[in-house]
Amino acid sequence: MIIQKCYRTWQQWTYSAGHRSHCIFSFLHSHFSSLGPKVYHHQPVNTREFDSHVYARIIQHCTRNNDPTKGKALHCHIFKMGNCLDLFARNILLNMYSKTGLFSDAINLFDEMSDRNTVSFVTVIQGYLNSQEFEKAVELFFSLHKEGHELNTFVFTTVLKLLVTMDCVGSVNCIHACIHKVGHDSDPFVATALIDAYSVCGSVGVAKTVFDGISEKDMVCWTGMVSCYVDNDCLEESLDLFRQMRLENMQPNNFTFASVIKACIGLNAISVGKSVHACVLKTCYEMDRYVGVSLLDLYTKSRDIDDARKVFEEIPKDDVVPWSFMIARYSQSNCCDEALDLFLQMRRETFVSPNQFTLASVLQACATLGSLELGTQIHCQMVKVNLDLNVFASNALMDMYAKCGKMEASMSLFLESRNRNEVSWNTMIVGCVQLGDAEKAFLLFLNMCEENVHATEVTYSSLLRGAACLAALEAGIQIHATTIKTIYDRDYAVSNALIDMYAKCGRINDACSVFDAMTEHDVVSWNSMVSAYSMHGLGADALKTFEDMRKTTIAPNQLTFVSVLSACSNTGSLEQGEFYFTSMQEDYGIEPCMEHYTCMVSLFGRLGHLEKAVKMIEGVPREPSVMIWRALLGACVAHNNTELGRFAAEHVLEMDPQDESSYVLLSNIYANTKRWDDVAIVRKSMKRKRVKKEPGLSWVENQGMVHYFAVGDDSHPEIKLIRGMLEWLNRKSKIAGYVSNTDVILLDVEEDEKARMLWLHSERIALAFALVRMPPGSPIRIIKNLRICADCHMAIKFVSKLVQREIVVRDINRFHHFRDGVCSCNDYW
Ligand SMILES: [Zn+2]
Ligand SMILES: [Zn+2]
Repeated sequence: MIIQKCYRTWQQWTYSAGHRSHCIFSFLHSHFSSLGPKVYHHQPVNTREFDSHVYARIIQHCTRNNDPTKGKALHCHIFKMGNCLDLFARNILLNMYSKTGLFSDAINLFDEMSDRNTVSFVTVIQGYLNSQEFEKAVELFFSLHKEGHELNTFVFTTVLKLLVTMDCVGSVNCIHACIHKVGHDSDPFVATALIDAYSVCGSVGVAKTVFDGISEKDMVCWTGMVSCYVDNDCLEESLDLFRQMRLENMQPNNFTFASVIKACIGLNAISVGKSVHACVLKTCYEMDRYVGVSLLDLYTKSRDIDDARKVFEEIPKDDVVPWSFMIARYSQSNCCDEALDLFLQMRRETFVSPNQFTLASVLQACATLGSLELGTQIHCQMVKVNLDLNVFASNALMDMYAKCGKMEASMSLFLESRNRNEVSWNTMIVGCVQLGDAEKAFLLFLNMCEENVHATEVTYSSLLRGAACLAALEAGIQIHATTIKTIYDRDYAVSNALIDMYAKCGRINDACSVFDAMTEHDVVSWNSMVSAYSMHGLGADALKTFEDMRKTTIAPNQLTFVSVLSACSNTGSLEQGEFYFTSMQEDYGIEPCMEHYTCMVSLFGRLGHLEKAVKMIEGVPREPSVMIWRALLGACVAHNNTELGRFAAEHVLEMDPQDESSYVLLSNIYANTKRWDDVAIVRKSMKRKRVKKEPGLSWVENQGMVHYFAVGDDSHPEIKLIRGMLEWLNRKSKIAGYVSNTDVILLDVEEDEKARMLWLHSERIALAFALVRMPPGSPIRIIKNLRICADCHMAIKFVSKLVQREIVVRDINRFHHFRDGVCSCNDYW
């Protein structure tokens, strides 16, 4: 259409040759009326000369308005007039084609140009750069050089940009040499481009030399050097340079501010960051998007989430980045309700669409809150906008389903996912371990290895936690061996999980070696070690470790004191227990929690200070937990206090009517004082309430295989050998003085039958199997899912002396190390 008009104008022009210039201008006027009078009113209307300069200005106008159609029409018109544009105007035409998306026309024009200068070359090189045809750009640079055109600053900045874009930073040196030869190295434009290129290479020193050589530094040079320092992790230097810049009265721009704030975040120099914020407020950049987001980052790192929210309210929010940022921070800081509210606000009040990062943070909040319903809604939304296939978002979905207990949904997403990465695998492994299915976690790990997916510290630490739960020492050792071959054996999370694994598998010495081998300890390492000693009944070592911890700069937390107080309780150290309980509150400002009170009650109870224990319970500010009452009940049994014991048992059974062990303890109290009627009442009450005993289960690991045994289990293939061993143990220990304590059996059967039943307890079957199958002298480790009963405890003490072997039993509460007829718990557990 335009071309037709153009042709008509051309015809008109040939007919009225006398009004040539007039016609050009009427053509221009009809098509470029927006140009205003400036362009042509100054032109002499009746000139017969072809004015290249006027055309050049109009072409430039087309470029600015991104209007290639008009530009092309004009070119057509010029062509018909004899194409007598000068080089300057032709370069501008070249630029128009290149910038307005008609790059192939630019190349044609360039090829047809009889004479070309540096500007023509650079224009086309930039065009190649923008259309990512890097090799052609380089070729053209060589012909520019070969044809002897001037190597000006324009050429060098373009070439340096080309090299950086091509990731060809190795050649920056050659260009630098060339720049030096022609003497452009003090030019601020060229030098800034050089600094950028050297920054990408990581050659900070050379960049600084270039910076120092700039004759008149402008704000862009300073910003380039500050960013170079920040991008290369020389954060202190970047702040120093920023100070110098301010001393020289240079006004920073938005990029300078964004870089400097990033440096403050990296250095954790929050107060410096706040002073930069003050600086920003004095300029016009507080509403800049880059500066705003980095300020938001700064304030969220400062842990002051309210300040972060204030910044968030002030910065522009027409983009998804600040929203994502704030929602992510809320989710990570456990402010899940705020995260969800903000997400709803974003959806209701703005037109900003969430991206995969926003949705992943919202899913994280749903996972923490266990909000399956909202999580499922987000899933639907993701399917609608096609984000469910994004690996980042789909990992967050798997995590959400796993944490909400929907492992099957999580697994099916995992299996369907076509682009899984190591995070996807880790999400599944962590999910399985958290839901108590460590065996599945190990199977997943094997598949992960088969598919050559790189395992990380998260993989290893989760698997170790899984091994600890199962007390699967063999598997734990194998994971340890694997980590030694990787870079992860020095990782905090892995080492801490190793300490925990060895401790829970009964290998306290190995836990200790891992702890000693660590170059630095964090609070989790200390807690793991104190708790390891404590659960093994090594109270003195636990307290010594805690004293060592107090000498470091690492502050103990709630969990540390749970282990410390339980160590005091395990060893019956009254004074220390009371001291630490007070010190925790007064020196460390930690409010006692239910676990702390439980430890104190069991400490007082163990030593027979039952009034103190009751006083402690009365001092609990909230409703005392069932654990506290159980601790008191245990103490009453040990010290034969019938009335208080019944009182404690009533509380336990009120809160947990199905707790079989409390019925046993209560009945033991009555039996001790020969109150047989009450024993009968307890039995009846159990029957009435249909108390179901959680089946006792014990297991031992032999040569990498875990062997499970239930009460009275005769399913094991080697049951004949096991029975033989049990009989032998029974006979031998009776000779050694063992008398069965049938009080632990509440069934209404004959005493002989009770004694026989005791020898069917799962831990004894497991012990007999271990004695039959495991090499003489090797330590025996038995894991039990419930509390070990008083009679088994007694029997195993006799057996340990009889067979002269160390027997370790881990029950639900702690470890019992039986050696030579004595247990490490001193018969109180
Ligand atoms: Zn038993
Ligand atoms: Zn014991």
